[in-house]
Amino acid sequence: MTVNSKNPETIALHAGFRADPATGAVAVPIYQTTAYQFQSTEHASNLFALKELGNIYTRIMNPTCDVLEQRVTALEGGAAALAVGSGQAASAMAIQNLARNGDNIVSSTDLYGGTWNLFANTLKDQGVEVRFVDPADPEAFRRATDDKTRAYYAETLPNPKLQVFPIAEVAAIGKEFGIPLIMDNTAAPLLCRPFDHGAAVIVYSTTKYIGGHGTSIGGMIVDSGAFPWEDFPERQPALNSPDPSYHGAVWVEAVKPIGPVAYIIKARTTLQRDLGAAFSPFNAFQVIQGLETLPLRMREHCRNAQAVADFLKGHSAVSTVIHPSQQSGEAKKRADTYLSGGLGGLVGFELKAGRDAGRKFIDSLKLFYHVANIGDARSLAIHPASTTHSQLSPEDQLATGVSDGYVRLSVGIEHIDDIIADLDQALTAAS
Ligand code: PLP
Repeated sequence: MTVNSKNPETIALHAGFRADPATGAVAVPIYQTTAYQFQSTEHASNLFALKELGNIYTRIMNPTCDVLEQRVTALEGGAAALAVGSGQAASAMAIQNLARNGDNIVSSTDLYGGTWNLFANTLKDQGVEVRFVDPADPEAFRRATDDKTRAYYAETLPNPKLQVFPIAEVAAIGKEFGIPLIMDNTAAPLLCRPFDHGAAVIVYSTTKYIGGHGTSIGGMIVDSGAFPWEDFPERQPALNSPDPSYHGAVWVEAVKPIGPVAYIIKARTTLQRDLGAAFSPFNAFQVIQGLETLPLRMREHCRNAQAVADFLKGHSAVSTVIHPSQQSGEAKKRADTYLSGGLGGLVGFELKAGRDAGRKFIDSLKLFYHVANIGDARSLAIHPASTTHSQLSPEDQLATGVSDGYVRLSVGIEHIDDIIADLDQALTAAS
């Protein structure tokens, strides 16, 4: 039995699984198996030839991961998804699925540092050039495009600036050229549905809000099923020309009997097969537990973050508060348009007294954890100038939005009085 609902609270609990057909178990079982018994040699060869869909080997697919994939797909209004071993693997594979040696992509500059490294160094070494542009001007994507550009890439709610990306504007430019927009929606699950605004692919670090409990690294690539790959055969050769790694399959043709899922089937059957960034079934179980309460948690994260922003705004030791509620002009318009589900759980602020005060503040926290992570149910804090961004020059730190006194908070779901009391005492100790 399937449950039909458009409501995330219901989808998060019921999409893709109701009860185990073999045992009746209501919780999603952990299918901790490497391989799957074929019914016959014909069945086996049909699976390998994609004439029938089914389980072959857990590096490529697994029933526990499948439930997670179906639930995230349903929440995003997409066509299909692929769970991979980390958010980093999701970003890398989302691009490698389209861009090959000699190609390029255009990316927003406002990125998680790990993604920046992947783009500026590792992809470059592999022959894929990443052209970085300022997302404040959507037309910069058009200007950076040439006939080898295969994808656009951005984060919905990038930190530290927390300025929401112009999804519809850039997706529309991409559609003129046949270039899909890939959105990293890690910081804004349920708050924004990038497919509703024209994005073609979503990537997640499920390690963050979706898992929500800081237990398991994981990633996800979601295919909207709406991008017209076959209308752009020269722009998108990876999906429109024979793939020697899969007996000459032309992906847009080969998957027609299955649905509009050429992009994600190619990612699963070639990249996941070859690169092997498998999502473990146990981690999928953990992330499913998180996903089931994601709608509740996101509401609390947003509510508490707003209260923290309001508290910091009135504090004498604080010079600037960075949160979508504090923005004006175009940035505010974008936050209002795209974060229809809430403004998120991240808050940044600058201490008037600078770097040493930032360190003192962090060292004085008692409830907040001092970790390089976001999206945990617990409240987290970090001082980027002395940690995550310490290898950057002072100029580059400032360009990415990190000043000496900047502190990033990932506001958790503890009682708001306890969160504010901890911030208050640490601010006093730092001033
Ligand atoms: N994308 C964003 C926005 C992130 O914040 C992170 C990790 O912090 C990643 C991707 C990478 O995810 P993972 O740590 O699961 O590889």
